[in-house]
Amino acid sequence: MIDSYGRNINYLRISVTDLCNLRCRYCMPEEGIEKIQHYEILRLEEIYKLAKIFVSLGVNKIRITGGEPLVRKGIINLIENISDLEGIKDFAITTNGILLKKYARDLKNAGLNRVNISLDTLDKKKYYDITRGGCLKNVLEGIEEARKVGLAPVKLNTVLVGGFNDSEIESFINLTKNEKIDIRFIELMPIGHTKDWSLDRFISSKAILDKFKELKAITKEDVSSPADYYKLPDGKGRIGFISPISCKFCKNCNRVRLTADGKVKNCLLSNDEMDLRPALRNGEDLKKIIVGLIKNKPKEHDLEDGKYIERNMAAIGG
Ligand code: SAM
Ligand code: SF4
Repeated sequence: MIDSYGRNINYLRISVTDLCNLRCRYCMPEEGIEKIQHYEILRLEEIYKLAKIFVSLGVNKIRITGGEPLVRKGIINLIENISDLEGIKDFAITTNGILLKKYARDLKNAGLNRVNISLDTLDKKKYYDITRGGCLKNVLEGIEEARKVGLAPVKLNTVLVGGFNDSEIESFINLTKNEKIDIRFIELMPIGHTKDWSLDRFISSKAILDKFKELKAITKEDVSSPADYYKLPDGKGRIGFISPISCKFCKNCNRVRLTADGKVKNCLLSNDEMDLRPALRNGEDLKKIIVGLIKNKPKEHDLEDGKYIERNMAAIGG
């Protein structure tokens, strides 16, 4: 699928639920988000049907996300079905890792290739604090298990939060010294209920790069990847910087998102969305509709103009 700016849209991110077993301060309000009615959430067969259509239209990379995807009942089955679709080259999941020890082997057996795990601190008290109740040990065991069963390469996603984890950046970077692991630092985005909290704590990727001059830039293998990668001089792993705010990567964006309630989002940082659920449930020609709506993908986001996204990140999937 080619959009109006000539970009090949071949990457679908599917949010399978907006529910989560954590309440990260930058993502969800403490009380959780407004509950969506059961009938509004796509059934697993509906998600599969849409995934199949997107793949038939040229999508070859799929990521399952959420909320927390591993809390969705039947997730392993869905992953098994999607992984059987002809044409998928890369099939991954983004998870907070809390349930990963339990599910890593099943995910691998179901045909998943890789896993990204969100981890913002290596300190158990701070982890409990930022996630409002999470247990760091569960995540570390999940990472271990993922590596053991070969869900590789494991990538860690670390959101940069001023006054919270800026003192731990070096420890994260040092994890790549002896381990073949990728750490990706993500700029904090002002989204949904947590917008004001996030605006106050923003740190740019550049501020980190200015501090760690020993990091050497490496050539991008995939131009559509939002991360710019670096390495320690003798490091085994890579250090990525995802800078949606300070350094837009819209020019090479290849993504489209499907939310758990059946909305298609052409841009993470735009309020525009298109509801596919009625067409899906009325048996309309979804291929035609999807091709048409990809044409409306915006050229770029305009967050820096003071516009903010109303949907919470947990209801988009990152
Ligand atoms: N629950 C899973 C997890 O945490 O990995 C998947 C969903 S979560 C919404 C996807 C990604 O979005 C996570 O890496 C999380 O850190 C990131 N995220 C959430 N809110 C964010 C924000 N305000 N700014 C930047 N990244 C954010
Ligand atoms: Fe849940 Fe992931 Fe949001 Fe944290 S970032 S509250 S784990 S959806």
